Amino acid sequence: MDTLNPQERSERMARVRSKDTKPEMRVRRLVHALGYRYRLHDGKLPGRPDLVFPGRKRVVFVHGCFWHQHRCPRGARMPKSRPEFWRPKLEGNRRRDARVVRELRRLGWRALVVWECRTGPADAARLADRLIRFLGPRGPAAAVQGTNTSSGATTEFDGA
Ligand SMILES: [Zn+2]
Repeated sequence: MDTLNPQERSERMARVRSKDTKPEMRVRRLVHALGYRYRLHDGKLPGRPDLVFPGRKRVVFVHGCFWHQHRCPRGARMPKSRPEFWRPKLEGNRRRDARVVRELRRLGWRALVVWECRTGPADAARLADRLIRFLGPRGPAAAVQGTNTSSGATTEFDGA
């Protein structure tokens, strides 16, 4: 039996939806809306980056705060049970992340880490600025040296 009125139901659905929207999906949607094209999870690159921009030699990682030990409240949380298991594991994740960025740099790639806690709706405008600064001019023209300037792939982000 459904005891929710329509208002309550839609509020609950909104909550479920926002919980299901993974940080990586939010970043992908934003990057796409900004007019950039990318590949996903390139296993040939160190760390299998989440978003790869081959023409720009740039990659973006979307990191969960807990797993990758962000210095934020979410990242500082330590499970109460078996800390002797979690601590070295999480430390290992952090060391591996640093190593991956160094390896990418050696191969001529630059990496940007976007933290889970900075991907909420309130952060979208700031995140868009960061991405544009990191990725450079929008549209495919930049990646193929001006041979395709007519595709108009510069969807503006509305900053909402
Ligand atoms: Zn965080």
